[in-house]
Amino acid sequence: MKRRQFIKVAGAGLAAGAVASPAIAQSSPEVKWRLTSSFPKSLDTIYGAAEVFSKLVSEATDGKFQIQVFAAGEIVPGLQAADAVQNGTVESCHTASYYYVGKDPTFAFGTAVPFGLNSRQENAWFYHGGGQDLLNEFYKKYNIYSLPGGNTGTQMGGWFRKEVKTVADLNGLKMRIGGLAGRVLQKLGSVPQQIAGGDIYPALEKGTIDAAEWVGPFDDEKLGFNKVAPFYYYPGWWEGGAALHFFINQAKWAELPKNYQAIVTAAAGYANVDMQAKYDARNPGALRRLAQGGAQLRPFPLEVMEACNKAANELYTEIAKDNADFKKILDAYMNFRGDQYLWWRVAEANFDNFMIRATSARG
Ligand code: CA
Repeated sequence: MKRRQFIKVAGAGLAAGAVASPAIAQSSPEVKWRLTSSFPKSLDTIYGAAEVFSKLVSEATDGKFQIQVFAAGEIVPGLQAADAVQNGTVESCHTASYYYVGKDPTFAFGTAVPFGLNSRQENAWFYHGGGQDLLNEFYKKYNIYSLPGGNTGTQMGGWFRKEVKTVADLNGLKMRIGGLAGRVLQKLGSVPQQIAGGDIYPALEKGTIDAAEWVGPFDDEKLGFNKVAPFYYYPGWWEGGAALHFFINQAKWAELPKNYQAIVTAAAGYANVDMQAKYDARNPGALRRLAQGGAQLRPFPLEVMEACNKAANELYTEIAKDNADFKKILDAYMNFRGDQYLWWRVAEANFDNFMIRATSARG
């Protein structure tokens, strides 16, 4: 090959490379995000979902897309995670949407509303019932794009110093419980209190409060409530399934190449399944240990459940009257719930009820 020709060919190769490399750079750029969790590291199951998510994103991009996870309080307090995403302080957070019902009660539908869907039904609503699209349309007002990111399953009703035998026992009851559930109980005369996780134990011990709800056996066991409030009620009718979400700043989401968006979506989906699986695997052992440690299990009496359900429906009607976003999502959500239970009462509930009887001999 003559020297001139060689230069020409090599030049063509170089040109081809030069054209190809920006395309590669566009699809696999170096991206560093910060994610603030609304939870402390001690709640390893919930907090861990953000770590599972971040690790998958990093591994799927050969370390090009790094999402650093910060515990609640390291960047902003846990209950300000959504604000930090909205104003761009961080690119993303892992949080419970219902922490923000003070801004708008519509936020509750992202996590749980009293007498709402269980975790299976929530996922059906989010992914295939139009729920996630409705939520994202609402979150857009806050510059947020969201993806489901975990679930606790049905929570426990919490720890009570005295038994609840009638609806009248709710009157004057000082209970650590937040959001819409607190407003439902208020209608029945209870006095809801907002208390951070670490402050619940001394408040129960001193009798400043009469009852407290937290999560379920695995998380409750760590806080030792059974030592100060022996009656452990179920079910937590305000959290038939408490869903967590990853909130992502809209502009930051839009900046991501399509393949990164797909990776983030897949990683969030995995974290969503993984958290529920961890709770389901860990709760039975924790429940057994709590019962051995003196916790006395009590179901809420039927009349209490019915009175709370009635109060919840009244609350929804009141809120929906002047809140169009709430009404739009409430109507869709409740229609979906109706269909779900039409199906649930046929195969799912009957299978579960039979299996509960068939296996209960094992203890
Ligand atoms: Ca709870």
